[in-house]
Amino acid sequence: MKVFVVGSNGQIGKQLVHLLKQSDQHTVRAMVRKEEQAEAFNKIGVETVLADLEGSVDGIAAAAEGCDAIVFAAGSGGHTGADKTLLIDLDGAVKTVEAAEQLGIERFIMVSALQANNRENWNEKIRPYYVAKHYADRILEQSKLTYTIIRPGGLLNEPGTGKVAAGENLERATIPREDVAGTILAALTEEKTFKRSFDLVSGDRNISDALKSL
Ligand code: NAP
Repeated sequence: MKVFVVGSNGQIGKQLVHLLKQSDQHTVRAMVRKEEQAEAFNKIGVETVLADLEGSVDGIAAAAEGCDAIVFAAGSGGHTGADKTLLIDLDGAVKTVEAAEQLGIERFIMVSALQANNRENWNEKIRPYYVAKHYADRILEQSKLTYTIIRPGGLLNEPGTGKVAAGENLERATIPREDVAGTILAALTEEKTFKRSFDLVSGDRNISDALKSL
């Protein structure tokens, strides 16, 4: 599959782009929003396209045209306010879903967040973030796309272990970004993840087994 990665310059995004580049099964088009980010990817032979989630659905669709799957791994980050949370984590995600629908790209993987589905457990300090994630996920679940919503726990920059736990209502825990990227890669073609939403934290099963047992 040719995979369109939204948020390619991000910490999960970069690792996913590298995994896709190395893969025999897939090719990748990295969506970035700055010329210098595109140059860095082009230098290592990764196809790039410039687009901004604050732009139009048509702009995102033009960037994704010709791809077979979309991964949304973007986010406004903790350093911005609730306005950017709405514009990127909610509207940017929904615009990407609309772009997929417009183009007929059925496979869509969303990087959400642990407990986004569960209002009672939202962290008081970042409720707007959870609101954004919750409603973006709900809109994707209500679409006709072959979606997978991955809700990782706290993200770590340490090396991945390749061992995860995937399922419903998992206890709050952490996971290396490298293992989230590996899970996205494996989920692209794992039918057990189609039209499914699940929590993801570090665990004791290898990624492929954890996804097969969903
Ligand atoms: P990250 O490093 O902050 O990367 C986010 C990416 O989104 C960046 O590359 C950024 O682009 C891009 N972006 C922001 N605004 C954009 C726009 N207007 N148009 C296009 N791209 C835009 O994120 P991460 O740490 O890899 O996390 C990925 C996902 O996991 C996020 O959705 C996050 O909410 C979610 N998550 C985080 C945690 C956690 O513990 N932090 C836990 C669970 C889930 P630039 O590089 O140009 O800035």
